Amino acid sequence: MFRRTLRAFKYAVFPSKCLACGRLFHPAPHRPAEKTVFKHERHDPMETVFLRVMMPYLCSACQTDFSPIEPPFCIQCGRKFKAGSGDSHQCGNCIQVPPSFRSIRSAGLYSGSLKAAIHALKYKNKVHLARSLGQLLFSSFMQYYDSRTIDYIIPVPLHASRLKQRGFNQAHMLVDHWPAISAKISRDAAVCIDYKNLIRKRKTLSQTGLGRKKRKQNVKGAFAVTDKTKIRKKQVLLIDDVYTTGSTAEECARTLMASGAAGVSVLTLARAD
Ligand SMILES: [Zn+2]
Ligand SMILES: [Zn+2]
Repeated sequence: MFRRTLRAFKYAVFPSKCLACGRLFHPAPHRPAEKTVFKHERHDPMETVFLRVMMPYLCSACQTDFSPIEPPFCIQCGRKFKAGSGDSHQCGNCIQVPPSFRSIRSAGLYSGSLKAAIHALKYKNKVHLARSLGQLLFSSFMQYYDSRTIDYIIPVPLHASRLKQRGFNQAHMLVDHWPAISAKISRDAAVCIDYKNLIRKRKTLSQTGLGRKKRKQNVKGAFAVTDKTKIRKKQVLLIDDVYTTGSTAEECARTLMASGAAGVSVLTLARAD
């Protein structure tokens, strides 16, 4: 009780800086997100989940600056169809050149406050955001996938030199709390995360600023599976922060499939395209 009063007092006296627009604001005293977030959110719209988990870091205007991925979209590559109505189905690209992954889903578009939050996590060292963003990603996982059909969750790896430079792998951090979260929901939702089996064996340039073709070349042959017996005939869910052209997801999925995986699905926090 005393602690709650103290927190309310702190929020009233000391404003926070909105991570998206930089304006000072008074955050509403909030309960720890994980206590409230997972009970019903399998059915909650993503914008509601976003608002709930990001409330402490965003002013009221920026809390609603979030764009969910709404149907219709390609059921495989996830790209949104220009026509705003109709059913989701496989797009022409995926029929002509089938990707190595079964499906890609994302929590939201890479724009507005979600973009600002991912940027702050990756480039401004705001590592505390990984917990909230990881909760958002977990909600997305619950909405799009069935945890009982996934054997391993594998975050996209960084090369050792990049990891040393940044100090952390954001894709790892996004799923770090998933075992604890899923344990709170039910035994059916248990997840198994594998941080080690997929490695980035070759140093690559940052994909930022590269075109589609260059991105593809940049990651070609960059990944490897260290223990093939472990993923043979297994269903894998690959995790990344942002989907841009899909080159990284495709190359990881191709490597995993070539190593014997039964299927690879992908989940990212945001998609740019
Ligand atoms: Zn703001
Ligand atoms: Zn497609």
